[in-house]
Amino acid sequence: MQNPKLQNLTDYSPDDKPWDAHKSQSDDVGGIYLRAAEFESYAARMRDCGGLLRFGWSTLKDTGETRLRLREAHFCRVRHCPVCQWRRSLMWQARFYQSLPKIVADYPDGRWMFLTLTVRNCAIEDLGETLTAMNAAFQRMKVRKEFKPVQGWIRTTEVTRGRDGSAHPHFHTLMMVPPGMLNGHDYVKHYRWVELWRDCLRVDYDPNVDVRAVKPRKPKDGQTLACATAELVRGAVAETLKYSTKPADMVADPDWFLELTRQTHKRRFVATGGALKDVLKLEQETDQDMVIGDDISDGEDDGSRLAFGWDSTPRKYVRLPERDKFKSDPD
Ligand SMILES: [Zn+2]
Repeated sequence: MQNPKLQNLTDYSPDDKPWDAHKSQSDDVGGIYLRAAEFESYAARMRDCGGLLRFGWSTLKDTGETRLRLREAHFCRVRHCPVCQWRRSLMWQARFYQSLPKIVADYPDGRWMFLTLTVRNCAIEDLGETLTAMNAAFQRMKVRKEFKPVQGWIRTTEVTRGRDGSAHPHFHTLMMVPPGMLNGHDYVKHYRWVELWRDCLRVDYDPNVDVRAVKPRKPKDGQTLACATAELVRGAVAETLKYSTKPADMVADPDWFLELTRQTHKRRFVATGGALKDVLKLEQETDQDMVIGDDISDGEDDGSRLAFGWDSTPRKYVRLPERDKFKSDPD
């Protein structure tokens, strides 16, 4: 007998509230795709994305705490699907944290910095061409002597919507660098980054460039350097690997968003290099990879299952009868 007070996913697991929020956004974005015949299949795939979530109880080894963990779900992988953007970002973050101990062991002096590279806003119809030019510029910058000391990097592309309906594409780059690049002989001044990026872009204006260090911190008592670095980089990675376009920008102007979809078709939005090449395993993206998300090292699967289905009227995940029980029990 189910407890009548427990109906929604959030009743069972308040921490899973983001599911309701992301799936709601997904309904809104999918609704825009329904307006354009060429994207009807995206709308259909997004409708089914994360429609049924099967969770299991999991006991954490260190605290003995029991909580729900996602075990099975299907994802649509439409590029701009808010559910998929979120799950993919969690999956990449988890992979990055998993690789960190080895990275820190291999590069104990590694420091971290952000480099944001922008161009002037372009018409949304020119976005594809602009992204091609930016990618070529980044290839040129990678081989410049100022960039040479960089030990590893992760670069994501974000496109925001200008208030006038233009597009603002930019790169977020998280770089692991030797200490000398932050305060020593390899230090690159801000104006020099601007000059470099301008040259590489082959434009006649000074593009906006933001460069900042991720502030280093001494390990706390009993904390290993790997641990301290993992904490430090956690926020930086989460910021770099979020979404390529904010759901709010997608729904603000449906025509802009449909054109964004055309202009970004089959383009890569994440690139990695140096010691960070392959840490995200960009090619590896099964349903199960996206289920695991942020809890790779979590407790054992005890085999229990609770199913929740998306109800688009209250916009909540609600508990469904346990289907497996019915399947194995013919009565
Ligand atoms: Zn999806």
